[in-house]
Amino acid sequence: MKKRDFVLVGAVLAAALLCWLVPRALGIFGRTQDTELVITVDGEEYGRYPLSEDQVIKINETNVCQISNGEVNMTEADCPDKLCMHQGPAREQGQTIVCLPNKVVLEITGETQENQADSVAQ
Ligand SMILES: [Zn+2]
Repeated sequence: MKKRDFVLVGAVLAAALLCWLVPRALGIFGRTQDTELVITVDGEEYGRYPLSEDQVIKINETNVCQISNGEVNMTEADCPDKLCMHQGPAREQGQTIVCLPNKVVLEITGETQENQADSVAQ
């Protein structure tokens, strides 16, 4: 009888562990998906792109940026200084890549909603 009790307790503990692990794993995935690249051209939002998805984004006829492995780089630009192409990679929230001559701004955002709610509560 005692041996069966141990098995039961073990099964309950394993189930509890799973219930604890699964939402945490999902929460981590949710957070990475929330991180996105916001492209602004001349003060107007051009588009939003998740950093979790590798892709090449053409910005009008002037710039091309690339998302790969969760990092953003300006890969092509027709501006004379090419400063924007040397600013990357950007991957942390709040980092920006700016092309001043073309008024193109790449900004990393995400994960801020919870923090903002906390600061409002305080
Ligand atoms: Zn530039």
